[in-house]
Amino acid sequence: MVSYKELGLVNTREMFAKAINGGYAIPAFNFNNMEQLQAIIKACAETKSPVILQVSKGARNYANQTLLRYMAQGAVEYAKELGWEHPQICLHLDHGDTFELCKSCVDFGFSSVMIDGSSLPYEENIELTKKVVEYAHQFDVTVEAELGVLAGVEDDVQAEESHYTKPEEVIDFATRTGCDSLAISIGTSHGAYKFKPEQCTRDPKTGKLVPPPLAFDVLDAVMEKLPGFPIVLHGSSSVPQEYVDIINSNGGNLPDAVGIPEDQLRKAAKSAVCKINIDSDSRLAFTAAVRKVFAEKPGEFDPRKYCGPARDEMTKLYKHKIIEVLGSNGKAE
Ligand SMILES: [Zn+2]
Repeated sequence: MVSYKELGLVNTREMFAKAINGGYAIPAFNFNNMEQLQAIIKACAETKSPVILQVSKGARNYANQTLLRYMAQGAVEYAKELGWEHPQICLHLDHGDTFELCKSCVDFGFSSVMIDGSSLPYEENIELTKKVVEYAHQFDVTVEAELGVLAGVEDDVQAEESHYTKPEEVIDFATRTGCDSLAISIGTSHGAYKFKPEQCTRDPKTGKLVPPPLAFDVLDAVMEKLPGFPIVLHGSSSVPQEYVDIINSNGGNLPDAVGIPEDQLRKAAKSAVCKINIDSDSRLAFTAAVRKVFAEKPGEFDPRKYCGPARDEMTKLYKHKIIEVLGSNGKAE
């Protein structure tokens, strides 16, 4: 058993309370490798933004749980070295699907876990979530739960169709499970293809796909039922067209990739939405930078020469999200 407190990490309780009161959202960035982690920490240290480092089940299998734990501990020390006096860094399991996985993460130094029972029948979701909450809270680890189904693909999580969260269920669910935050479905979606072209309209000037707006009426109804309760949005990458263009013009093939417009996320961040998950955008930034180096310098074979530019591009992206979209800059001095 390793406590996250020994690693210098924090849970989400205080950061969410401050975010709701302050009208901003905490970035939840997924990471799988060193360059991504360096970029996240550099961006957060330079902007003094609290941050949630997310590890999916797939990332845990890819990078190894023990290594990830010490990478997170290293991230805290690296942040201090960069001059961030009191780094607020949470290590969070994204989309835990069993009690055993969540328990293992709690035991291994995670400060927060998500138990995603959203694909289960309602009562089973409650039962599973409650079991995880009861275990995690003994160690002061916070728990995110999910109600409603998001479309799209993320690691092992896959759903053809989305189902909006039913606001009439949220009080019962939050009360009976004791969860600390709730991921809801209001039209965001996992991956870089959040909407099919037929769900979108086309901008007559640019020919670009314009996605349908998020269901803010559902968010409003949830907030009315659970005033001040931390709400989470998954699948909130914006899929920047500049990255898609760089990828496609350097040998890639991402036709009709489409994300959530940043003005919609900016609006959500001002509400009780206090955690916004962004993964695909950093994958796009990384891939765009790597493809560019490969196209321009075909003789290059030192990984630092293409992972370095990828890291710089991700740092730029994370800072943009923190300052221009989430408003979390300067919230953790
Ligand atoms: Zn997700």
